[in-house]
Amino acid sequence: MRPIWEMSRSVIIFTDLDGTLLSHTDYSYGDLKQILRDLKADKDQYIVIPCTSKTELEVVEFGKKIGLNGPYIVENGGKIIPADTGLFATFRDQSAVTVWQIRELLDSFPSRIRKSLRCFHEMSVTEIARLTGLGDIDAANAKNRKHSVVFVLGKEDDVLVEIEDLLKNTNYKITKGGRFFHLIGKRDKAKAAQQLIQWGLDKGLHSKFEVWAFGDAPNDLSLLKLADKSAIIKNCEVSQQELISLLPFAYISKKRAPEGWHESLEVLKSSV
Ligand SMILES: [Mg+2]
Repeated sequence: MRPIWEMSRSVIIFTDLDGTLLSHTDYSYGDLKQILRDLKADKDQYIVIPCTSKTELEVVEFGKKIGLNGPYIVENGGKIIPADTGLFATFRDQSAVTVWQIRELLDSFPSRIRKSLRCFHEMSVTEIARLTGLGDIDAANAKNRKHSVVFVLGKEDDVLVEIEDLLKNTNYKITKGGRFFHLIGKRDKAKAAQQLIQWGLDKGLHSKFEVWAFGDAPNDLSLLKLADKSAIIKNCEVSQQELISLLPFAYISKKRAPEGWHESLEVLKSSV
C-alpha cells in the first residue's frame, strides 16, 4: 500500500452499523464486501471505521466477515479498539470506563427506579435474541459488554427523566440507539472519533483529509455533527426528525440500509 501522504485525498469514514450499514430488520449488509474492495482500489485513501453500540466481540467478528481490520469504536464510544495493522495499530485507549463502575452506579439508584430497568446482563441469551432478532451466538456477544449497560424501560417517559436527573453532575450519561437505552461514561461516538483523528494527525496523517460520518439514530448526532460531510440513512423504525432538523447539510438517503449506505457513499464521493 502507498504511504497515506502520497494519496490524492484521504477520507476517514465513521459509520454506525445497525440501521446504517446493516439492515435494521435482518442485519444484512448487501454488497458491502465488494464496495469496500472498490474503496481500497480507489485513487483516494478511504479508512472506514465502524462506530457503533455493538460490543468488541460483535464488531471484530463482523470486521473479519467483510474485510475490515479496525480500528473500531464500540459500545457507543465506550471503547476504541486498535487496528490490526497500519496507522491505528499502536493506539491504546486509556480512558474507558468499565462496566463494573456503571453497574455500581445503577445499583445505587432508588429501588423503584432500578426495578424499572431491565438490563442485558440480567437477561438470558434467548431473551436478548428475541428482543434483538440476533442469533444465539451474536446475542451472547451482544450481552458481553465491558464499557456500557444496555437496558429497556417499562414506562420510559416518566422514569427516563428521573434517571437523567440522577446522572446530573456524574461522569455518566444515557444515550438512545435504535431500540435500546445505553448507560455509558461521558464519552460518545464523537469524542472517540476525535481521539482517533487526533492520534492519526500525531502519527503522520496529513492535515488535508476529510471526515465523513453515516448514522441513522439520535446516538449518532454528535458524530454526524463533527464530520465535514454526513449522511442520515433512512430508517422509518426510529425517530429521525431531530437529526434531520439539526443537520441541515446532511444528505438524507432515499433507500434504507444497507442500500442507503452505498447510495450515500456515492453521493458524498461525487460532491465537492
Ligand atoms: Mg443505528
